[in-house]
This record gives sequence, C-alpha cells and structure tokens, in this order.
Amino acid sequence: MQTAANLMPIPGHIDPVPVPRSFVPRNDGRIDLLGLSLADLRMALETSQLEEKQAKLRAKQLWHWIYNRGATEFSAMTDISKTMHPWLEQRFVISRPNVVEAQVSTDGTRKWLLRSDDAQDYEMVFIPDADRGTLCVSSQVGCTLNCTFCHTGTMRLVRNLTPAEIVGQVMLARDSLGEWPSQPEGRMLTNIVMMGMGEPLYNFENVRDALKLVMDGAGLALSRRRITLSTSGVVPMMARAGAEIGVNLAVSLHAVTKEVRDEIVPLNRKYGIEELLQACADYPGTNNARRITFEYVMLKDKNDSDDDARELVRLLRKYELPAKVNLIPFNPWPGAQYECSTPERIKSFSSIVFGAGISAPVRTPRGRDIDAACGQLKTASEKKSRAQIDREAAAESDAFA
Ligand code: SF4
Repeated sequence: MQTAANLMPIPGHIDPVPVPRSFVPRNDGRIDLLGLSLADLRMALETSQLEEKQAKLRAKQLWHWIYNRGATEFSAMTDISKTMHPWLEQRFVISRPNVVEAQVSTDGTRKWLLRSDDAQDYEMVFIPDADRGTLCVSSQVGCTLNCTFCHTGTMRLVRNLTPAEIVGQVMLARDSLGEWPSQPEGRMLTNIVMMGMGEPLYNFENVRDALKLVMDGAGLALSRRRITLSTSGVVPMMARAGAEIGVNLAVSLHAVTKEVRDEIVPLNRKYGIEELLQACADYPGTNNARRITFEYVMLKDKNDSDDDARELVRLLRKYELPAKVNLIPFNPWPGAQYECSTPERIKSFSSIVFGAGISAPVRTPRGRDIDAACGQLKTASEKKSRAQIDREAAAESDAFA
C-alpha cells in the first residue's frame, strides 16, 4: 500500500541549476579573475589577444598577486609594468563577495552574510579557538536535501556557488583578518570546513576547483589535512572526493536507524546507513591519525537514547572506522520541530561512545547571540528592510576595519 511517506519525492535527485563557468563577463563586460586556475588565467589573457609568451608570464604574476598577496587592484602589482595596468583594468576585475551583513559574537565568532552579483545570499562563519581558527564555507545558495533539523534545509536550492564565490569566502576572511601575504605560520585562519550552506558533493566540480586553489602551496597554502569536507552522504561522489580532493571527511550521520535517519536526513532514503558507512570505510587516507568525523545532532527523544549510542558504537566497529563523533547540541530556530536533548542525556550518550574508546566530544555552541546556526543569518536578514541592512552593514564594516 502506498503511504504518504513513500509517495514523497526522494530528495537529492534534482540536479542543481548549473552556473556559468569562467570567462563569462560580468555586467560591466569585464572578466572576473578570482577563482581561475593558472591555466585558466593564461587562457583568459590569450582570449583577450595577449601574445602567448606574454600571457604565460603575466598569468604567473597575476596568480601570485591574487592568491598569495590578496591583491584586488592591478595598480598594486609592482612587477607588472604600469603601462599595462589600464589594459588589465579595462578587461578584468578581481572580485570579492559583497558583504550584506557582518556580525561579531561575544565569543569571537564572526559571521558574514554575503551577496553574489545576481543577488543571491549565502553565509560564512569564522570560529576562533585557542589553537586554531576555522572558517565554515558555503557551497550552495540553499540546499536540496531538506534535513529536517537544519535551517538551510527549509530554503529551496537557488544555485551552486561558483569556484570564485567559494574561494572568495576564504579570500574575504583573510582580508578581514589582515592575513596577506600568505604566511606559512602564525595565521588566525588555520582550518576550513565545507560545512556551511549546501551539500558540497552536489556541487562537486566547483568545490574541487576552489579547494585546489585553497590548497596550492604557492597561494593560499592551506594543507589538505586542515580542510574538512562535510557530506550528508552522497555515496556515489565520496570516492571521487577522496581521489580528486583528498581532504578530511566529515559525515552528517545524525541517526543510527533507518526510520529516524530517513526522517531527519531524507537523503538516507536514497543512500542508506550501511552503504554510507561502507563508502566511509573505502575513503582513502583514513587512519587513526586522520579519522573520519561523524556529526551527530542531539535531538530530544529522537536519536539520543543509550540504545542509539550503543548502536552507533556497533556500526563504527563493524566497518572498522577510525572515527571521531562530534555531538552537537541542537540549536533551535523559529519553527523547528525538535528540541535539544537534555545535558544529562548528552552526557550519558557521550560516555557510552567514549567508553567504547571512540572520541565523542560535545561541541560547544558558538555565536548563539548572532544567529550563528547555519541559515539563520540569511533568514533574519530577509525580514529586515533594505535600508536597515545597509545602515547595519556600514556600521559593522567599521567594526571589522
Ligand atoms: S544539513 Fe546540510 S545537507 Fe542537510 S539540509 Fe542542511 S545544508 Fe543541506
């Protein structure tokens, strides 16, 4: 018999709307060089009729200025002849995402609401800790996957972010932290998690191209060991992510039974828990020093029993996964259908997993005073008038200066 549940469309099969790749000029006719690889940069110059040898040399210089020095103005590029600056300015631009709103929490967490040239809003968050600073980067505007505990899941997918918009988040954070030129040591921004809005493996090529730029040792130079890609379980893309990007893997597990995971991470109806854990076991380069992180949001009376904890241990052991479990107290948002588990429940769950020799720290909520849960800033902003946002952005840009 067909029930309402099995008549529901299975999420995740809708291909995200493709976006124009490199070389599509902006409205002002200029080409944005941000997000281009060295080869693409060279091709952009050749397409603008620069002679081949010149294009090769200039591409190298431009690439260095963009990704190592953080330059956004051609006039700052002292090893490119002054007479060439106007030629470059007429044809090219080095963009940054537009900042609609920027907030700083009392705990130091910084959150930005960003806007693309076609007026799409997305978010990034910087979380400073004693020994590291982590930037949480978005990969899509909205999300197709509708995880029921996630605020971004209530927004429809608008489109994939381009490589420029993804790497642009890292560049903007570096601008804000004053971390140019790219330093090998002493940085505040030390880690990146692809854990913002969207499912990165549904925007695979753009995420891969952006992360390759982020990892390039001559540019932004963040080691692949300091980058984590978080997926809700797009199983067919996981092997490719391992082979072509090779960063750390995090998996939004959140439940250990089919019934509950089908509800809270509906992609589970397409790729089940066992299939997902097998893909984790096959992910290249994992070992005890480089474990897979399993994200587990603590939802009261939904996924937080001692039996759930024991089943989690059983599953991780069955697949022999070098694992770390991140327990995330649920951060409710307006209209959410769940509550956070009690502190006692979280403690009990954590001790069972710890007792089995698997690390299971409880993540401290960050930036609660600034709508820092994924998707909250975007929604809060949509309720404000344009004028109010502009006023706040002006005030906050002073705070970030
Ligand atoms: S948790 Fe991630 S994959 Fe699920 S709806 Fe939210 S943004 Fe999308």
